[in-house]
Amino acid sequence: MDQPTPTARLLRAAVFAARVHAGHRRKGDAAEPYVNHVLEVAQILAEHGAPEDAILAGLLHDTVEDSDRDPDPITHDRLVAEFGAEVAGLVAEATDDKSLPKEARKALQVRHAAGRSPAAKMLKLADKIANLRAIAASPPAGWDHARRVEYVGWAGRVAGGLKGANPALDALFETTYRAAIAALAAEA
Ligand code: ZN
Repeated sequence: MDQPTPTARLLRAAVFAARVHAGHRRKGDAAEPYVNHVLEVAQILAEHGAPEDAILAGLLHDTVEDSDRDPDPITHDRLVAEFGAEVAGLVAEATDDKSLPKEARKALQVRHAAGRSPAAKMLKLADKIANLRAIAASPPAGWDHARRVEYVGWAGRVAGGLKGANPALDALFETTYRAAIAALAAEA
């Protein structure tokens, strides 16, 4: 087959992600289909001049982490075969090591942020933007005010290390972060 066009490759990643996440829902009250989240991350990247591989990785960024209990989990090698080493590498950078406790994973995200490649920084920043929007619009059931404040603060600390790769995305994060802080303050 000929080399796929960028649009065909993008749609192949979208369909791939939709299939992997077919049974997954967001934690928020609205329990949105999980694929809505990865589409939003990819859209944020596309609208802010991110490279094509980062946009594809945006679509695929949770496929490895969220399929680990599936009968046919998505592996790094599978992503390399389907979408190339660059995209698979970005997904690997966005995948937390689930063998570690949650607090350790969160601390590592802060520690590793500044050393990431520019495309990985953009991907992680777009992911945090989408998550902050979700925390404000449809917080996870059972997350009290303090837990949401803690999450927003942590996202801000991770983002501190991710800045500098894409000024437009940095600005969007800042706006989204301030809006989340204001919304939480108004509730308190
Ligand atoms: Zn995500």
